[in-house]
Amino acid sequence: MISTETPYYMELKAAIEIVNTASKITEWFRQVGFQSYQKEDDSPVTIADYATQIFIINKIMEQFPSDQIIAEEDDNSFLNHDARKSISSCYETLNIGENIDIGKSLMKKDKYSERQWTVDPIDGTKGYQKGLSYAIGIGFMIKSNPKICTISVPNYKKFGKAIFIAEKDNGSKIAINNSEFISLSVSNQSYLKQAKMCHSLHYDEPWVMDFAARAEITNFVQIDSMAKFCMIADGTADLYIKPMNKSRSFAWDFLPGTLLVQEAGGTVSDLQGNRIEFNDDKCMVSAPGLIASNSIIHDEILKKLR
Ligand SMILES: [Mg+2]
Repeated sequence: MISTETPYYMELKAAIEIVNTASKITEWFRQVGFQSYQKEDDSPVTIADYATQIFIINKIMEQFPSDQIIAEEDDNSFLNHDARKSISSCYETLNIGENIDIGKSLMKKDKYSERQWTVDPIDGTKGYQKGLSYAIGIGFMIKSNPKICTISVPNYKKFGKAIFIAEKDNGSKIAINNSEFISLSVSNQSYLKQAKMCHSLHYDEPWVMDFAARAEITNFVQIDSMAKFCMIADGTADLYIKPMNKSRSFAWDFLPGTLLVQEAGGTVSDLQGNRIEFNDDKCMVSAPGLIASNSIIHDEILKKLR
């Protein structure tokens, strides 16, 4: 159950509904097929990323018109006639987004507000393209302090659809296949050698596995997307190490997972042990990486990484 008494109940309720419908959009495209494109930085983007982001932005604007929205996709050059037609047909089939102007509403960068939403329409696009793990992440912060997040993982550990939520100081929760929300907490694993470690399927660096060898870790989960943070938050895994590039670390990628892990009792820091901060669209983490853990083994991980 989610409490109606908490400070950001309205934002949380809206974000749950939005991320729930958004995952119907991504799954619709997964079934009917989708066009993929290459962005300027060589990373992939699909028409489903656009359809999802446009829907999410419109729904947030409808309910919180003076808030600022920081969303990942900002290049509408792929939104040609055919792309718009295919997005309309998705919205029509799902019976959503009747008032949305698809050509106009990819971004909403023109205003500044202390109330900022972050949107990652598909996190783990490579996983999505291959039919593997991906996630949809929404975050909300005030003066750069995270307040709520929602993460939908449509294919979570073969359970089906999982929706993860967190509200600052009110804990983290999960709902599987639209059941009731129940509280989450991190694992109580206290032996680093026996810990289960998450790492990236498509974006890893040699120092991550060098660390694992030094720590004698032998138990791994390798998946795409911010679902790795979800696995730390629900105790499926005990630590996650992510290589970070300072200039390409964005709030939409890291705000939802960071808040979710912290509210489930975990710790998220850089390799020096400094907490992760956000500033507009940036995640202010120092290179070379980020650690999310169940808190108990955090200091030992930091020591082994030095
Ligand atoms: Mg994305």
